[in-house]
Amino acid sequence: ATENKAVITLFGATGDLAKRKLYTALFKLYQKGYLADHFALLGTSRHEMSDEEFQKLVQDSIKDIEETRNGEAADFSKHFFYKAHDVTKPEHYTILKDRIAELDKQFGTDGNRLFYMSMAPQFFGTIALNLKKQGLLSDDGFNRLVIEKPFGRDFDSAKKLNDELSKTFDEDQIFRIDHYLGKEMVQNIQALRFGNTIIESLWNNRYIDNIQVTLSEKLGVEERAGYYDNSGALRDMVQNHIMQIVAQLAMEQPVSFTDTDVRVEKIKALRSLRVYTPSEAAANFVRGQYDAGNGTEAYRDADGVDPESGTETFVAAKLLFDNYRWSGVPFYVRTGKKLADKFTRIDVVFKKPLIDIFADPRNESDQSLNSNVLTIFVEPKSGFAMQLNAKRAGQGFTTQPVNLSYLQSDSDKKEAPEPYERLFHDALEGNHTNFASWAEIAYAWKFVDVIRKLWDIEKPQFPNYTPGSMGPAASDELLARDGRKWVYRL
Ligand code: NAD
Repeated sequence: ATENKAVITLFGATGDLAKRKLYTALFKLYQKGYLADHFALLGTSRHEMSDEEFQKLVQDSIKDIEETRNGEAADFSKHFFYKAHDVTKPEHYTILKDRIAELDKQFGTDGNRLFYMSMAPQFFGTIALNLKKQGLLSDDGFNRLVIEKPFGRDFDSAKKLNDELSKTFDEDQIFRIDHYLGKEMVQNIQALRFGNTIIESLWNNRYIDNIQVTLSEKLGVEERAGYYDNSGALRDMVQNHIMQIVAQLAMEQPVSFTDTDVRVEKIKALRSLRVYTPSEAAANFVRGQYDAGNGTEAYRDADGVDPESGTETFVAAKLLFDNYRWSGVPFYVRTGKKLADKFTRIDVVFKKPLIDIFADPRNESDQSLNSNVLTIFVEPKSGFAMQLNAKRAGQGFTTQPVNLSYLQSDSDKKEAPEPYERLFHDALEGNHTNFASWAEIAYAWKFVDVIRKLWDIEKPQFPNYTPGSMGPAASDELLARDGRKWVYRL
C-alpha cells in the first residue's frame, strides 16, 4: 500500500457518524498501510476536550476492530488532535489554521489538506467560506473537501450550497459522499456490464423488459425522527442513492474507467431521464407511510414526529429514460422503512422469447417460459443470480426456471472495505469515481422537485401500509397497470 499524506480536519468530530463510521474507516486504512506515519487528524466540534480525551474517544470508537499488532490502536490514536471551535465564529478559524500548520510540520504531510464536513448541513456553506477567508488552505499540497449528505433539500438550496462551496473549492476538489457508491456490489454493476459481452450486448430495450431497484429497510425512523420528518424518503433515499444506482445501470460505456469519463456518462444518463409533468408525476409515483402493526407503533406516533405528519416513509416510482438504449423500458424503483426485510437488490427482467415453441398450441393459457432475470444482490448478501429456463428432468418436455448464482463468501466479504473506508481512501487519492458530481446532483434534484411540489400540495391518505409488508397496495398496482410484477414480493 502507498501511504497517503495529509492533515484531515474533521468538522463534527464528536458526532454520531464520526464515532460510528469515520474513525473505524481510518483505522482500517491505517492497518492496511494507506495511512501510516504522515497523517494527522484535527477534530473539531463545539465541546471542549483535550487531545488526550479525544484520543480516548477515538480509541473507544475503534475498540471492536481487532489489532493486527500490539499497541496498534494506541499508536493510531496518537495522530488525533482536537480543538473546540464554533463554526459560525470567524476568529475561531485562526486557531485551527495555526494548529493545522503545526501538524503539517510535525507529521510531514507535504501541505496536503482534507477538510471533512460531518455536521448539520446548514453549516457547510459557512465553513467553506471561512476556510478560504481565514486562510486555512495550503499553497503547496492539495486542498480537498469531503461533504456529507444531504446536499440541499431541493434544487435551489443545493445550488445555493454549491455556489458557496465553489467560492472556495473547484469541482475537482469537492467530494460529495453518497455511501451507496462505496458499496462493493454497486461498484460491481460496472464490472458486470462492461466486463461481460453476454451481459452488455443484451443491455438495452431490445432485450430488457424492465429494471427494478429496491432499497428496503426493516427499521423505522428510530432516533432520527426529527430529521426524517422534515425530509422523507424522496429526499433521503430517492434523490441521492436511487438516482446514483439508476445512473450506473442506465449509462453508456465510458471511454475509460477513470473518474472523468465515468462522470460524463452518468451525467448524460441523468440528462435523458424524463422529467415528469405534475400529472405524469402523479401517475408514476406512489408514496406511503407506515401504520401501527406487527408489534410496532405507527410512524405518526414515533417520538419527534408530528402526529398529523404527511411525510412519506415509502416511495415507489416508474422512471423513463428518453434515449436510444432505453426508450420504452421502465425502471421501477422503491424504498421504504418498516418493510419486510433489510436488503438492497437490483432485478433486471429480460424479455421472453417472441415465440414460445414449448407451449401447447391448443391451450392459449399455457405459458411455460419464465422471464430471464438477472439479480444483483447488493446487501446484506453480495453477488448475483441469473434465472434461466431449462428442461425439467424426466419424460415429456416441460421447462422450469433454474438459477445460476454467485454469492461472495464470508471471507470475500471480510476483504471488502466498508463504504466509508473506500470513500476516505478515494478522497485521499483524489479519485472522484465514487462521488456525486454537481451536475448529477442538479439533474436529480430537478427531477425530484416536481414530485415534491406535487406532494406538498396534495394531502396524502396516510397511514397506508402495514409494518412488515412491502409497502402500500398502490406500489404493486404501479406495475400491475403495465402487466408486470415486482420480482421480489412476499
Ligand atoms: P451529530 O448531530 O451526531 O453530530 C454533529 C457534530 O457537529 C457534533 O460533533 C457537534 O458538536 C458538531 N457541531 C454542531 N454544531 C456546531 C457548531 N456550531 N460549531 C461546531 N461544531 C458543531 O450528526 P451526525 O449524525 O454525526 O451527522 C453528521 C453529518 O453526517 C450530517 O450531515 C448527516 O446528515 C450526515 N450523515 C449521518 C449519518 C449517520 O448515520 N449519523 C448517515 C449519513 C449521513
